[in-house]
Amino acid sequence: TTAGAEPDERIIEAALRPKNLDDFVGQPRVRQQLSLVLEASKIRERVADHVLLSGPPGLGKTTLAMIIAAEMNSPLRISSGPAIQHAGDLAAILSSLSEGEVLFLDEIHRMSRPAEEMLYMAMEDFRVDIVVGKGAGATAIPLDLPPFTLVGATTRAGLLPGPLRDRFGFTGHLEFYSVEELELVLRRSAMLMDLKVNSAGFYEVASRSRGTPRIANRLLRRVRDWALVHGIEQIDARTASAALDMYEVDARGLDRLDRAVLHALCTKFGGGPVGLSTLAIAVGEETETVETVAEPFLVREGLLGRTPRGRIATPQAWEHLGLTMPKDAVF
Ligand code: ADP
Repeated sequence: TTAGAEPDERIIEAALRPKNLDDFVGQPRVRQQLSLVLEASKIRERVADHVLLSGPPGLGKTTLAMIIAAEMNSPLRISSGPAIQHAGDLAAILSSLSEGEVLFLDEIHRMSRPAEEMLYMAMEDFRVDIVVGKGAGATAIPLDLPPFTLVGATTRAGLLPGPLRDRFGFTGHLEFYSVEELELVLRRSAMLMDLKVNSAGFYEVASRSRGTPRIANRLLRRVRDWALVHGIEQIDARTASAALDMYEVDARGLDRLDRAVLHALCTKFGGGPVGLSTLAIAVGEETETVETVAEPFLVREGLLGRTPRGRIATPQAWEHLGLTMPKDAVF
């Protein structure tokens, strides 16, 4: 998903995508399991099992779908849940697939219900029923599909209905990347962008990237701009931190939304517990955005806790915001 990116930024993003599993940094378990699925399907001379990839945005789901198609020597078709509102939209895509094609459906949890039901049969039996006509005169015309591999992506596997989840032969959950892994991503990107960065510079950018390769690459471009304008030849830690301070990425990598969530939690709700949707309203965001974009990172950083009664700010959150934790705060 590249929503919000400038067109030329999207071109750069595409150029930085690793093209095979060996160049794909990190996620050792998913990489190993996926490689096995692909190898086995090559030996059996069958299309690969359907693959579900889950994890926060920017961790490499689209990239992996492209790699799967490349490794299988198959064409790739890209669509997304929100683009498929009618079963007919899905039927049009499915009926035009070629044998062995990889169909990538991003944000698959946002597909409409009727389309989802059509997908069940397509995944299981490579067949769909096309309904022609309306009301009492409606008839279902069965249509055989060429075998294909569905790669579904979702920010959280839990957002998918059970019957859909069960029809994937393999589910890979992508984790946030370590700073060392992000340094590798950045080294590769800097090389492709012909940028000079020293080790401390890479470390500085990597440690502010929210465990996310897309953010790492984006911050690297902002640091590049800053260095260019200031006539700096080699990017070091000072250059990187000066640039990133200007772009409001703090030393721990929290962006504006992350800080807004923590700030609201502490100042409006005394540190919680508060329900997720109330918190989302307080920062003017959709509940799903707070839940799938901001929250996983804040939880991983130990800044936000989930309790049965709602979200709470940890002592570290208060400290990070420079606020004093009230004595009666729940923690
Ligand atoms: P998602 O589909 O999960 O939102 P993408 O696959 O679009 O994420 O990845 C976003 C960007 O991050 C891509 O441009 C890609 O270059 C980079 N990226 C993601 N994962 C990796 C990785 N494991 N190694 C190197 N670069 C990566």
